[in-house]
Amino acid sequence: MTKYKLEYIWLDGYTPVPNLRGKTQVKEFDAFPKLEQLPLWNFDGSSTMQAEGRSSDCVLKPVAVYPDSERKNGVLVMCEVMMPDGKTPHPSNMRASINDDEGAWFGFEQEYFLYKNGRPLGFPETGFPAPQGPYYTGVGYSNVGDVARKIVEEHLDICLAAGLNHEGINAEVAKGQWEFQIFGKGSKTAADEIWMARYLLQRLCEKYGIDVEYHCKPLGDTDWNGSGMHANFSTAYMREVGGKEYFEQVMAAFEGACDDHIAVYGPDNHLRLTGKHETQSIHQFSYGVADRGASIRVPHSFVANGYRGYLEDRRPNSQGDPYQIAAQILRTIGSVPEPVEDRLAAVA
Ligand code: ADP
Ligand code: MN
Ligand code: MN
Ligand code: MN
Repeated sequence: MTKYKLEYIWLDGYTPVPNLRGKTQVKEFDAFPKLEQLPLWNFDGSSTMQAEGRSSDCVLKPVAVYPDSERKNGVLVMCEVMMPDGKTPHPSNMRASINDDEGAWFGFEQEYFLYKNGRPLGFPETGFPAPQGPYYTGVGYSNVGDVARKIVEEHLDICLAAGLNHEGINAEVAKGQWEFQIFGKGSKTAADEIWMARYLLQRLCEKYGIDVEYHCKPLGDTDWNGSGMHANFSTAYMREVGGKEYFEQVMAAFEGACDDHIAVYGPDNHLRLTGKHETQSIHQFSYGVADRGASIRVPHSFVANGYRGYLEDRRPNSQGDPYQIAAQILRTIGSVPEPVEDRLAAVA
């Protein structure tokens, strides 16, 4: 038997942006534990804005498990927060609102700033560094400094060791700004992994005395880019059947549900979705082929494949909750009927 350190990780009840929380319990197992072997656990909801009425105990229900390469016998346990009965999702539990759908695939592009002493990493103590231009995908000390890449590479390795499905990383447009992409099949997979990757990034940065700034426009109304979390999405029907007519119906549904989407696409998004810096105005909905100034970008490949494949919603921001984003995208797509005849014809 080996004593494993199980880090139970959950989202607290703060709004508009939940915080990651975690605490460790030590338990013995024969081998690295499987999800089914992990017990429910409690925490004090009165300390996390999750207390309901007089009883402050909330229940942690493990929903995904990953190895923790940074800790001897470490286990990362993503949890949903449940009511004391252990069965009813707590009102703050947004993961429970995602429709289960194995055919739904998401790819999130998480942008963020590394911050030191309240300024983006690499910014001088006062004023600004040289304007944007060379930083995006840049190389060299004057572009990325001497510590950012070390953090970003270390983070990537920790995430890969945990089995998170990173697809790539890159230096972003603003100095001190970076991105990673995670793709997952199944409606909850990529969202779980984004939260776990955020957790691992924040924990890693502790030892560097650096914070992760997820706000979508940390430098305000300046010529410095904000941070997004583009949500690339597809369903089985979109990939296998699709078609122009269905696509146009889906886009009409997105236009009609615009306010519902913006409501869960992250706080302060009006500061970022201005129509500048490769964004569409928050007040407008648009879509376009390869259009990075649209709300939804339609990849060339989508049209070339007969309106089949994935779409990119460019509106979600870096502080958005991927659970709520995925849930809303699937609600809107789900409001459009999938014509059964087309499906049969495609199979025939
Ligand atoms: P860009 O920065 O040009 O928008 P990225 O490469 O950063 O492009 O991100 C594209 C994302 O699209 C990746 O996370 C990828 O996993 C995702 N993606 C690709 N194919 C699909 C698909 N069929 N369904 C959902 N997401 C997809
Ligand atoms: Mn990208
Ligand atoms: Mn980007
Ligand atoms: Mn993108």
